[in-house]
Parts: sequence; C-alpha cells; structure tokens
Amino acid sequence: SLEQGPEGPETPIQVVLRVRPMSAAELRRGEQSVLHCSGTRTLQVSPPGGGPEVAFRFGAVLDGARTQEDVFRACGVRRLGELALRGFSCTVFTFGQTGSGKTYTLTGPPPQAEGVPVPAGLAGIMQRTFSWLFDRVQHLGAPVTLRASYLEIYNEQVRDLLSLGSPRPLPVRWSKARGFYVEQLRAVELGGLEALTELLQLGLSRRRSSAHTLNQASSRSHALLTLYIGCQTSQQMPPVGPGEPPVGGKLCFVDLAGSEKVAATGSRGELMLEANSINRSLLALGHCISLLLDPQRKQSHIPFRDSKLTKLLADSLGGRGVTLMVACVSPSAQCLPETLSTLRYASRAQ
Ligand code: ADP
Ligand code: MG
Repeated sequence: SLEQGPEGPETPIQVVLRVRPMSAAELRRGEQSVLHCSGTRTLQVSPPGGGPEVAFRFGAVLDGARTQEDVFRACGVRRLGELALRGFSCTVFTFGQTGSGKTYTLTGPPPQAEGVPVPAGLAGIMQRTFSWLFDRVQHLGAPVTLRASYLEIYNEQVRDLLSLGSPRPLPVRWSKARGFYVEQLRAVELGGLEALTELLQLGLSRRRSSAHTLNQASSRSHALLTLYIGCQTSQQMPPVGPGEPPVGGKLCFVDLAGSEKVAATGSRGELMLEANSINRSLLALGHCISLLLDPQRKQSHIPFRDSKLTKLLADSLGGRGVTLMVACVSPSAQCLPETLSTLRYASRAQ
C-alpha cells in the first residue's frame, strides 16, 4: 500500500492501477479476461492467441475483487489529505477509456434514483476522503472550513456545475497569490457528507454527455471537484472576493474524459472537435508529467499553459503538492488495444 510509502511531496506523481471486474455484458458475450495481477504491484497482460506476456509495474495494482474501501486504502489518500491540511495542493485523477471505471472509482455507481444516495459501502474515493477529512478537522478542533467547487472542462471551456444562473464559460486567470484559478467559480461550504452528496448529484446531473457510437452515455468532459481547506482566522490568507475560494490547502478530484482514440469512436464534425480537445488536454497532461519527471527540468519551463486542465492542476503537479493517478482498465480481451495505451500512458507518468 502507498500509505506506508516513504514518498513525500518531492515525488510529484504516484500511479495506481485498478482493473474493474468483467461486466455482465462482457461475460454474456463470452469475452476472455487478459489481465492478471501478480503480487501487489505487477500486472500481467496475456494477449489472446498466446502472444508473449507483457508486465507493467505500478505503485499498487488492484484487481476486480478489490472493494472501494480497499482502493481508498491502497491509494494512500489519507496522506494526501494530511498534506492538504498542511496547505499543499493535492490531486487525485482517474484516467482510462470510457467504461473502465473512472467515475465508479471516484464517486461510486450512479444513484438508483433521484435523491437516493449511493450505499456507503460503494462510495468512491471522493466521499471517503471527504468523510475522513471532515472527521479529522472536527477532531483537530481547528476553525477550519471545508468548501467545494465543481466544474467541467468541455471543448477547452470551463463551466461551473454549481452555478446558480445559466452556466457560461468562465475564464481561467493567474495571479501571484493564487496561481491559476477560475474567475467567479462558486464555492459552497460543506457542513457534512450529505451536503457533498447533494452537490455531487447536482453536478453529475449537469455534466455533459453526448450520444456516442462507442457508449451512449460516455462522458466527453473532464470534471473537477475541488475541496478547499480554509482557516477562517488565518492571517496568511489573502483577501478574496465574495464567494471565491480561499487560498489554502486543497484536494482536487478529477474525472477525466474517456481516453479512447478518435478513430475508435467514429466521431465526425462537432464530436471530432470534442475528441480533439479532449486529447489535447490529455496530451498536455502527459507532456507536463513527463517533463516534471525530468530532474534537470526547471519548474518554470513546464508548459502548464498548454491546456485548461494543466493550468488548473499546475499547483498539484508542480512543487506545492502531490498527484495520484488511478489508471482504470477493463480486463476484457476486446478492450486490449485501449488498455495497452492506458497502461503505457500510466507507466510513463511514474
Ligand atoms: P467510466 O467513468 O470510466 O466511463 P464507469 O465508472 O461509468 O466508467 O463504469 C462503467 C460501468 O462499470 C458502470 O456501470 C459502473 O457502475 C461499473 N463498474 C465500474 N467499476 C466497477 C467495479 N469496480 N465494480 C463494479 N462495477 C463497476
Ligand atoms: Mg465516467
């Protein structure tokens, strides 16, 4: 488990791989599973037809039998929470093709009906981290407020999923005190887990999805839920406008758009534009990560400005935080080409 790991903020990115169970549809179609965990850190890929096996190593590898609680523990998210309480910016993002379990890993299965919360046992990393953080703050007895914002990046435009009026694209700005931030982004104070659940349901219902030949409900946007940890009485906090998030530690949860290649989805016209800007953000993210891993590289030379996504993750990816990537894959042979591209992207990030 990463929880015991010696890594501090000096290791910019940690990678965990999660293999979801075979779905009912995959089993019905008689698809073969081609992924096997070997120990706690190695994934074996056995191509169908008896090709040579390939192995990938990650900080942790979790198979389809692992529960949401197992995943939360193995990811060492509490350590990110501790860092956020100390003022660092930390990010957890899920990466993988549509249907690989990104949203499930972060937020659990979709609600059965309006207003029905996800059963506690199936809650994702996001709810678990929040519950832990909320308890921790109460235990500390510190005058700490937890606030949250929720936005999506769609075609390189930022939309506030919590906006009161009709959402219009919001600009991403930079200031010395705050780094990159979204202007006029709404941040709401969270008094408990129920408030987070409500906010999640509102945001999820407002997320963009479009009919897609690969998956009808595939999410074509990146969604970022950020928890801001602020001390009401802190002297160090620069003043911010009303309703704007305070400067302090934060934890960002990013549900990335599906990483599948444009060619595999038969996209045309507007969908092609979508796919391109999704890939542009994902490529920019991969590029920034690979440069960050180069010890010769100066922080000032990382091209965070290349996409909205990398701007908003700059402080976690850069010197002030820790980033955890949860790469999600399906075990099915049918998904193998996309799975291999996810595994390569994830391998390059560590
Ligand atoms: P993505 O967000 O990557 O497109 P989802 O999280 O929506 O994928 O997962 C696709 C489907 O598989 C959903 O129906 C989800 O509930 C289910 N699923 C994903 N991961 C698991 C898991 N570990 N256990 C059980 N069901 C899962
Ligand atoms: Mg999803």
